Amino acid sequence: MEYKINCIGILTSGGDAPGMNAAIRSVTRTAIFNGIRVKAIYRGFRGLITGEIKEFQTQNVSNIIQKGGTILKTARCDEFRSSEGRKIAYERMKEEEIEALIVIGGDGSFTGARIFAQEFNIPIVGIPGTIDNDLFGTDATLGYDTALNTITQAVDKIRDTASSHERLFFIEVMGRDAGFLALNSAVASGAEAAIVPELETKVDQLAELIKNGFRKSKNSSIVIVAESEITGGANGLAERMRIEYPEYDVRVTILGHIQRGGSPTAYDRILASRMGVAAIDALLDEQRNIMIGIVDNEIVHVPFTKAIKHDKPLDDKLMGVLHILSI
Ligand code: ATP
Repeated sequence: MEYKINCIGILTSGGDAPGMNAAIRSVTRTAIFNGIRVKAIYRGFRGLITGEIKEFQTQNVSNIIQKGGTILKTARCDEFRSSEGRKIAYERMKEEEIEALIVIGGDGSFTGARIFAQEFNIPIVGIPGTIDNDLFGTDATLGYDTALNTITQAVDKIRDTASSHERLFFIEVMGRDAGFLALNSAVASGAEAAIVPELETKVDQLAELIKNGFRKSKNSSIVIVAESEITGGANGLAERMRIEYPEYDVRVTILGHIQRGGSPTAYDRILASRMGVAAIDALLDEQRNIMIGIVDNEIVHVPFTKAIKHDKPLDDKLMGVLHILSI
């Protein structure tokens, strides 16, 4: 018998990321193209519980491919962490005749999706949407490329003032569990170093920097720092510098939420478009409990259990590149 899905639900959950709208557009249009109805669920899992749900047609996703944020809104939903909350969500899905879900979000969202899918035997496919790029099994997540470009442009501007005043800048970027943004933006902006969470407990990265003759031929420097509770982020490191190395004129910039916003890059729009089509293809192919990923430019299916494991490695070679180019 032919496998058929008549109606899907789509939601965005966790932190917003540029490219989520392009993914909503792609999923909606691909589903309708295949004769599947689309129900848009607002405010992540919370909307599934409270019933903030609206049927989408193709024109509901017109003129959004270029927009940052998510038109479906996003929210953190503690109720979904309890089995009672998930039971209400399931009842709501049945009421709305939603037979499968597309979840666009990060590791927390996929953790919730995995539990929900198993409890009620629901087909769920995830699309990775998080600027941190911390999901295993995909070279890139939606929003990562845009955030990287935003950071690089901001650092270029800070460099102008850093060099005029001969200062040392610690610039804090997002990524408390993963140093992809910090390392890659450091290389892209010609920074002297990146302080990343992957090395926090292994070495004293600040002391290493100084020991290795940091800044020997330069009058200004930029160090990109991933936010962190262990190092205290850019403020924590700057405080240490002022005490341990008072000869430096240290300044701090915390880039904050500008990293999340803005129009997605062409790369993120194309990635979102491809992943949206792949997500519907996967559902029609009876796949479930998987995240769509991209590896070496090919679409792949990654079980949720693997995607959320937090063991995506940083590129050691790129760290080497940064080190060589900062002499
Ligand atoms: P980001 O990486 O941008 O922070 P995220 O998807 O990891 O995004 P979270 O806030 O961790 O964001 O999770 C989003 C939502 O997923 C939570 O508010 C909750 O509703 C659901 N969720 C997370 N973990 C669980 C869990 N263990 N059980 C059930 N639901 C969960």
